[in-house]
Amino acid sequence: MSEAALLDRPATLAGEHVDVLVVGAGISGLSAGYHLQTQRPGTKFVMLEAQASYGGTWYTHKYPGIRSDSDLYTFGFGFKPWTGAPIATAEEIRSYMGEVIEENGLDRHIRYQHRIVSAAWSSVERRWTVMATRTDTGEQLRFTAQFLWMCQGYYRREDGYMPDWPGVESFAGTLFHSMHWPDGLDIAGKRVVVIGSGATAATIVPNIAERCAHVTMLQRTPIFYRTGRNAIEIADELRKLEIDESWIHEIVRRKILLESKTFTDLTVSHPERMRGELLTLVRDALGEHAEQHVDAHFTPTHRPWQQRIAFVPDADLFAQIKAGHASVKTGHIERFVPEGIRLTSGEVLEADVVVAATGFHLSVLGDIAISVDGEALAFGETVTYRGMMFTGVPNFAWVFGYIRSSWTLRADLVAEFVCRLLRHMQERGVETVMPRLRAEDAGMTLGPWLDPENFNPGYVNRGGHLFPKCGDKIEWRHTHDYWEDKNSIPQADLDDGTLVYS
Ligand SMILES: Cc1cc2nc3c(=O)[nH]c(=O)nc-3n(C[C@H](O)[C@H](O)[C@H](O)COP(=O)(O)OP(=O)(O)OC[C@H]3O[C@@H](n4cnc5c(N)ncnc54)[C@H](O)[C@@H]3O)c2cc1C
Repeated sequence: MSEAALLDRPATLAGEHVDVLVVGAGISGLSAGYHLQTQRPGTKFVMLEAQASYGGTWYTHKYPGIRSDSDLYTFGFGFKPWTGAPIATAEEIRSYMGEVIEENGLDRHIRYQHRIVSAAWSSVERRWTVMATRTDTGEQLRFTAQFLWMCQGYYRREDGYMPDWPGVESFAGTLFHSMHWPDGLDIAGKRVVVIGSGATAATIVPNIAERCAHVTMLQRTPIFYRTGRNAIEIADELRKLEIDESWIHEIVRRKILLESKTFTDLTVSHPERMRGELLTLVRDALGEHAEQHVDAHFTPTHRPWQQRIAFVPDADLFAQIKAGHASVKTGHIERFVPEGIRLTSGEVLEADVVVAATGFHLSVLGDIAISVDGEALAFGETVTYRGMMFTGVPNFAWVFGYIRSSWTLRADLVAEFVCRLLRHMQERGVETVMPRLRAEDAGMTLGPWLDPENFNPGYVNRGGHLFPKCGDKIEWRHTHDYWEDKNSIPQADLDDGTLVYS
């Protein structure tokens, strides 16, 4: 979709009332829009997006080489075949998303540069009142909606997470967070340090290695990497046979999903075997450089999948290490000094440019002040209904995708569920729906959103208390497991007493 087409969008009407208001035009928002359009035709909906264009994450981040970490057969929507290589650039992902907008006429529902600041539910009016600020003009706009669908992602865009390093102000070079890569930054001849070891660092390092004097990936602790060719053999074979792309999409999706389930199960049942296999991949990719690197920089102490495993397509990170353009350092930062970073070991990493690929500040509700009947919503005290609705919050759904599988798989499942729920409400002739614990749920054990023993990314460790609580019954959990959800969500009984209608 061309940027020019964005300008040809509908004007916002003051005081507009809609059936459904979608927050955000990223992957989850577009899935919501597509499903409303196709499964609830006639629904009046609007998608408010703070940024100047669509794409969410894939519009926000502009660092060199930005690409997906998961394959696009499962990160792509279930309803639109992906026809390229599995790991895709942000540009390719946005172009695919642009096609979804264009093919489904979603542009007439999207209002860009509308940052939602508050959403207030009134039980008397049976609707949400949503206040948004136009980021281009500063104008305040009021919308009302029967249903609020939160597709706002999980992190704040204004500032990325950076630990409070001492001495930063004394550093003579340039320091920034990877989310805010400066336009036109010239790194030719510069010594660059990228702090971090996740997918972002593992993408930036090989992508700048040949353009700067040298790049060092500075990590506190190692993580696991998987590596392999950025291609899917069976997809290429089926294409040669001129099989319809929608079949290829479905077949490859199923294959990848099964393989990733098998892999994930093995990391739990046979962690040491999987550790060995992952390290062998890295060893093979590093060849004669393995001995010098694997024990020191690529052998984590955690179990595989306790933290995200980053995929390195075509082993590009390892190729640059082998070529001597990139190196890895494992150590703790003591402080910044004028010439670079001093580690607790005493070593100083000299740098002209430091990129912090150190993660995000959690923003569970898009920094929107949400209230229900005049009371500020204490989101962390609610109990979740299947990870998408919350006790005490009427006509409200929220998308939090998968961590070990592609986010979109869940965005699509939630979208189908919400459309089914809206149809059910229409058939019952009711206007509101709200999860409520049943008598039989009294005394149910409540636990955290994510079990830290099982998975503990930094942003969850820092902000875990902001997430809703989970119960120990399927209705009151976010399973974080596509294989469980793919059956249990479509089959959820909407009249089992967990959802109260009026
Ligand atoms: C660099 C990076 C790479 C990633 N790679 C992968 C991957 O390969 N696979 C995977 O599964 N996951 C990946 N993720 C996680 C990723 O965020 C999701 O997969 C996915 O893109 C999220 O889509 P979303 O629409 O839910 O949220 P986002 O992409 O975050 O989009 C949310 C949108 O809502 C808007 N918004 C937020 N608050 C407001 C507000 N108050 N008012 C109006 N608009 C608002 C934002 O501007 C944004 O455009 C990655 C994340 C990052 C940061």
